[in-house]
Amino acid sequence: MSSQLELQKVQVKYGDFTAVRDVSLSLETGQIGCLLGPSGCGKTTLLRAIAGFESVCAGQVSINGNIISSPTLTLPPEQRKIGMVFQDFALFPHMNIQRNIGFGLAKLSTSERQKRVAAQLELVGLQDYASAFPHELSGGQQQRVALARAMAPNPDLLLLDEPFSSLDSELREQLAAEVRFLLKQRDITAILVTHDQHEAFAMADHITLLNEGSVAQSDTPYNLYHTPLNEFAANFIGQGAVVDTVVNAQGELENSMGSLDKGHPSWTVGETLRILIRPDDVRYDEKSPLALKITTKSFRGAEYLYELELEDRQRIPCLTSSHVDLPVGGYLPITFDLRQVIIFPTVNT
Ligand code: ATP
Repeated sequence: MSSQLELQKVQVKYGDFTAVRDVSLSLETGQIGCLLGPSGCGKTTLLRAIAGFESVCAGQVSINGNIISSPTLTLPPEQRKIGMVFQDFALFPHMNIQRNIGFGLAKLSTSERQKRVAAQLELVGLQDYASAFPHELSGGQQQRVALARAMAPNPDLLLLDEPFSSLDSELREQLAAEVRFLLKQRDITAILVTHDQHEAFAMADHITLLNEGSVAQSDTPYNLYHTPLNEFAANFIGQGAVVDTVVNAQGELENSMGSLDKGHPSWTVGETLRILIRPDDVRYDEKSPLALKITTKSFRGAEYLYELELEDRQRIPCLTSSHVDLPVGGYLPITFDLRQVIIFPTVNT
């Protein structure tokens, strides 16, 4: 069975500058993918190449097994059966909501169009707003209209370009979960572009993390968080610190946190390895003899995020309940749970 969307080694250039290099990904019907990464990493360029607004200079893009982009072919956007939702909603201000949603349905008969629009309005919970104008709706409601309009023609693929970034953070997360539910209900294949990992986690089944135009990791949200393949992925996703540790005479990792209970036959004594410490690997334990100096702390409602200093000045994060309220400069007693610890390639010793 062919994938709904397939990118094979796609490359996009602006003049001599390669904005996207060798990107491959595939989505099955109903899967939600995400292009994630820092500003300038090539997310929008890749999305535009999928939509047909940019040509590819190597590789190919196909939908349902049909090639729509290659170095010798760029099928025009309007022939791709792709729906788009933009950051700024892009609704037509002088059309009411039902006309906005029905805009791409000119080929349908009037009664079919009305039925389709009514179904879309119901899907996004805006039945009572059919005659309202965009400016009479909240940002979240407008984005639901934009989604309904993009889904109305039953596209093969839906592209969502930073769709929640103009909304406040609470609404953003709520809407992301809501939109995921709607897409899943209709088995719609979609790609979301965002630089916000919370949005990516809330919506996507699969994330392609980009760094300077190339794929840093392509994986499930769970794997991206728990088993980053490189320091870029580790630093971009979630909180954490990558710290140096030395393999001690017993073959275990050791630094000023003490000897860490993990050994591997391939390590050599004296070798320096880089390990990723997530806040959830470090536990507050009032009975622990090991206490680390608190360098900063930030209140997050249910939790405090502490930054702790090791003897060699490297810093690591620790999450505690917000009832554990110790001052900066004080010492936090901790234990480590390093069962899941991630180790990156050796640096020079
Ligand atoms: P952001 O999150 O800031 O929107 P992005 O990840 O979407 O960033 P792109 O907009 O795809 O990144 O840009 C990728 C690279 O290509 C950047 O270095 C950018 O400066 C460059 N670029 C984008 N559009 C053009 C263009 N029309 N001409 C030349 N270079 C471009």
